[in-house]
Amino acid sequence: EKGRLLFAGETTFLKGVVAMDGLPPADRLEVCFAGRSNVGKSSLINALTGRKGLARASNTPGRTQEINFFTAGELYVVDLPGYGFANAPVAVVAKWQALLKNYLQGRPTLRRVFVLIDARHGAKAVDEEIMTLLDRAAVTFQVVMTKVDKVKGDALDASMAATRAAMAKHPAAYPELILTSSEKGEGIAALRAVIASIEA
Ligand code: GDP
Repeated sequence: EKGRLLFAGETTFLKGVVAMDGLPPADRLEVCFAGRSNVGKSSLINALTGRKGLARASNTPGRTQEINFFTAGELYVVDLPGYGFANAPVAVVAKWQALLKNYLQGRPTLRRVFVLIDARHGAKAVDEEIMTLLDRAAVTFQVVMTKVDKVKGDALDASMAATRAAMAKHPAAYPELILTSSEKGEGIAALRAVIASIEA
């Protein structure tokens, strides 16, 4: 079973990529994680793989514009840089957007992108920009809400509703929304099962 390999503690950092010619050969399926800075992406990847500190590299200054590849059994796990660059220079943003677009459109083995949305905030304009890129690249994406332990009741219902409304506008969106808390472990098994079920 594919998914078992992914979380058996054999996930290792492969490389950070800054240009298309640095991509590893497309010799296995890959899943990718995207989200605004601070959405909880590193925490989620660490919870999924059971390796604390694994995704930390992508948060260190200088690595933030890299697409980080991890080898995880039969899969590549890909950590995209956090977006929502309030302070980044225009040229940096433009370079990153071009790389992202080229990567998404040119990666035949990319099976799914998980778009992470903070449960307290719901989908924002920058999240929808990524969703639009994914529509254009015809890459299926699935929305994962993070930090659900931080929000309850009506507030969670409201951010879920807003997120579902955003998903409904995007043809590449996989209809199932996954709720997670890396802190409490909620939804981690469900997300592993989704990854395990992804087919060649
Ligand atoms: P990244 O920038 O998207 O990689 O985000 P991080 O994984 O570094 O998390 C950003 C902050 O949110 C950190 O302070 C984490 O401890 C916190 N965080 C991440 N996931 C959760 C969660 O599920 N619940 C709570 N309460 N906090 C979380």
